[in-house]
Amino acid sequence: MPYKQKVLVTGAGGFIGHHLTKYLVDRGYWVRGVDIKEPEYENSAAHEFELLDLRRFDNALIASRGVDQVYALAADMGGIGFIEQNKGIIMRNNTLINLHTIEAARIHNVARLLYTSSACIYPGYLQKDENVTPLKESDAYPADAEDGYGWEKLYTERMCRHYTEDFGLDTRVVRFHNIFGPLGTFEGGREKSPAAMCRKIALVRDGGTIEVWGDGHQTRSYCYIDDCVEGIYRLMQSDHRDPINLGQDRMISINELVDIVSQIAGKRVHRVHNLNAPQGVRGRNSDNTLLRKTLGWEPAVSLETGLARTYEWIHGQLQSSGRLDETAVLAAA
Ligand code: NAD
Repeated sequence: MPYKQKVLVTGAGGFIGHHLTKYLVDRGYWVRGVDIKEPEYENSAAHEFELLDLRRFDNALIASRGVDQVYALAADMGGIGFIEQNKGIIMRNNTLINLHTIEAARIHNVARLLYTSSACIYPGYLQKDENVTPLKESDAYPADAEDGYGWEKLYTERMCRHYTEDFGLDTRVVRFHNIFGPLGTFEGGREKSPAAMCRKIALVRDGGTIEVWGDGHQTRSYCYIDDCVEGIYRLMQSDHRDPINLGQDRMISINELVDIVSQIAGKRVHRVHNLNAPQGVRGRNSDNTLLRKTLGWEPAVSLETGLARTYEWIHGQLQSSGRLDETAVLAAA
C-alpha cells in the first residue's frame, strides 16, 4: 500500500516524539525521525532515524529533505528544576533548533509544519493563585512568559505566524499542558512532576516519607500521552492556524497528585515539603473551549487511568534495573 505522505518528526528520540512516530507509522505515514539521541526505552518505529543536531543549519536541511510535513518537537527541555536553572542554554539551543527547522522547511517547500509550544508562554501575572482561572489562548498577551523557556516558545510561535504571512508556509501551533505517560524521563533531573512522584513512591516503603517541592498546594492539570498524540494529529489535519491549548482541564494540587499515586501504589506515604525547591507558577489550568470548538474533541483518558499506566511502567523500569530490592527501598525512605 502506498504511504499517505512523508513526514519528519524532530525530537523523535524524546517522549512525545517517540509516541507520535509510532502513531503516524500506524496510520500509514512514512516517517523520518530526527534527534540527537535514540529513544531510551524502545526502538523507534520510524522508517528512517537520523542522529542530527538541529542547532546546525546544514543538519536541518538534511532532516527535512523530501518530506511533505514537519512535526517540530525537538527542544532542550525538562522539568521545572531544569528550566529554572538553564535559561541561557535553553534559549540559545531552542532558538537555533526552531529557526533552522522552520527555515529548512521553507526552503524545501514543506506543505505544513506543526510547532509544539507550551503553557509556559502564559503570563505569570495570571498564575499567581492556586485557584487560577483556566488559561485561554488570548490570555498570552500582554506577555509575561516563563523566563527563558517560555519566552523562546512565544518567539517561535510568532515566527510560525510570520512564516505563514510572509512565505505562505502553513503552520500549526499547539500549547501543551503537562503531558505524561510511559516511556518518558523519570529520573536524572529533567523529569516532570507525575513521573517524579511515580518514581519516589515506587521507591519508598509503605508508611515512608517522600520529598515534595513547594508546599504542595500549587495546582496543575495533566494530560495523558495517548490524548496528546491524538490531539496533535487532529490539529495537523485541521484548518486552525492560531495557537491552541492541548491539555486536560481538571486541575489538581501537587498534594492531590501524590495522594492519587500513593493509592495506585497501595502505599501510605508521608510528605516532607521542600520550600526552597523550584515550584514554577502557583496555579495553572487549560481552558479547552477553543479546543472543543475547533477539533470537536478533547482529551478523554482520566488522570487515574493515565497515572496507573505510568506508575506501572516506572515501577517495572525500577524493578528490572534492580532498584526495588529491599535495600534500595529502605535507602530511599
Ligand atoms: P523530550 O525532552 O522528551 O524530547 C525532546 C527531544 O528533543 C529530546 O529527545 C532531545 O534529545 C531532542 N533534542 C534536543 N536538542 C536537540 C537538537 N539540538 N537537535 C535535535 N534534537 C534535539 O521532551 P517532550 O516532553 O517529548 O517534548 C516535546 C516537545 O513538546 C518539546 O518541544 C517541548 O518543549 C514541548 N512541550 C512538552 C511538554 C510536556 O509536558 N512534555 C509541555 C509543553 C511543551
